[in-house]
Amino acid sequence: MTNRQSSLSRRDALKLAGAASAVMAFNPAFGALNTEAQAAAPIAAKGKIVVIGAGAAGVSTAARLCDLLADPDITIIDDTQTHLYQPAFSLIAGGVVSAEYPKLNNADYIPKGAKWIKQKAIAIDPDAKTVTTDQGETISYDFLVIAAGIDLNYEAIEGLDRSMLGKSGVASIYAYEGATRAWNQLQELAAESKKRKVSALFCETTTPIKCGGAPKKIAFLAQDYIRRNGARDNAELTQMMTGGSWFGVQVYADAIEKLYAKREMSSRFKHKLVKIDAARREATFAVPKLVMDDDLGIEVEQSEFVTKPYDFIHIVPNQSGAAVVAKNPKLANPTGFLKVNIETLQSETYPEIFGAGDIVATPFGKTGGSAHKHYPIVAQNLVDTMQGKPPSQKYNGYTVCPLITNYGSVMMLEFGYKGADGSDTLLPSAPLDPTQERWMWWLLKVHALMPIMYKSMLRAKG
Ligand SMILES: Cc1cc2nc3c(=O)[nH]c(=O)nc-3n(C[C@H](O)[C@H](O)[C@H](O)COP(=O)(O)OP(=O)(O)OC[C@H]3O[C@@H](n4cnc5c(N)ncnc54)[C@H](O)[C@@H]3O)c2cc1C
Repeated sequence: MTNRQSSLSRRDALKLAGAASAVMAFNPAFGALNTEAQAAAPIAAKGKIVVIGAGAAGVSTAARLCDLLADPDITIIDDTQTHLYQPAFSLIAGGVVSAEYPKLNNADYIPKGAKWIKQKAIAIDPDAKTVTTDQGETISYDFLVIAAGIDLNYEAIEGLDRSMLGKSGVASIYAYEGATRAWNQLQELAAESKKRKVSALFCETTTPIKCGGAPKKIAFLAQDYIRRNGARDNAELTQMMTGGSWFGVQVYADAIEKLYAKREMSSRFKHKLVKIDAARREATFAVPKLVMDDDLGIEVEQSEFVTKPYDFIHIVPNQSGAAVVAKNPKLANPTGFLKVNIETLQSETYPEIFGAGDIVATPFGKTGGSAHKHYPIVAQNLVDTMQGKPPSQKYNGYTVCPLITNYGSVMMLEFGYKGADGSDTLLPSAPLDPTQERWMWWLLKVHALMPIMYKSMLRAKG
């Protein structure tokens, strides 16, 4: 567990094979579109396609387009050489995998049929159909896929900047360097708990975020690590949530609440982190409070500020779509994400523009699991548009949170868009109670999901 290498015994491997087969067998959506694409004859549609972002969503969409089109003309724009498999960040922070584990060389995954411009897109003119790069190039397109992911903004919290991650008890697994430093911080916290009472705060934020379960994954890992390696009775662990519930899907919220009670972890709702005083190790939260307005004669909401000391604080930064979209009012919604039809993932103003991955302004679904569903849908709908047809594929909002609940157990929370009556939609991949923590899902999360990503998804094969 803590030796930075997780090895798989023969018994584990057999169980994992069973789990993976169960997922494939019971989730018909898992490979359906891929099979169709591989079987169909290449399509002769023409047009220059530009893809912004060579992350999970961009590369797999480009790869699928290369498969679908007889004569693809695809240009990918991204200045990063290394792709980071972000779902491993929680595992790095927990000491389960090494800091090198999530690194993939982008050059190995850019599809052979695509051209790669190693620059950053800094502006999109959707009327002129051009993208401008940081090196002053203007690239025209007929069709554009925007898959530039999310920007993190730690500086929105007073007193905090990204360089502080890993120092003075400030941790964050949302940034790669934060995840790598968090592992030392967790060990220090456990060691400290053997000497005195310690307090750890696990914060959340009010903007849409990627992997909404990550702030709880790190809390559960910390709890279990201290239980095994420190003095659990000396550690107060508190989840500081900004909303008023444990999770957006009620049955999962109920299951998570029970786990917090079972693990003797505390919680606060409606607490938004607004300030850090790193020197004093104090965090200030804005908490809404109703006060009587004597002039209006009604109660109005105001913020009251609550300051808490901490030994360890986990930060979730404010998040928006990548700046190239967030700063473009023709493309972005008020929170900086790409406006698209939430089913077809096509822009309703600019039908030649599609979005894939974290950047799209869907109600939720900022996970690699969502990107895995997006890419075949976007590629097919784009090809439909090239052929003058309406988009044929619809995204059902599928997303997944493999919620780590202990070293060795995961609750697999899968769901989609709510029904028209506001009811929750559960989309479990296997016919098992999804509210149960399972070792089988831990094996899948730790050993199988990354290989699935680089062996099949990035190559549009699954
Ligand atoms: C801590 C953590 C835990 C997670 N756990 C899970 C999990 O367990 N399961 C799960 O399914 N998902 C998880 N995720 C979420 C998952 O990593 C993302 O949803 C997924 O990476 C989204 O893919 P993407 O292609 O949209 O974005 P990314 O993979 O982030 O790629 C975006 C790409 O766009 C590029 N880019 C950005 N701006 C520009 C620009 N201006 N010009 C050109 N290129 C640009 C970037 O360089 C990058 O290569 C987790 C994320 C985090 C942070």
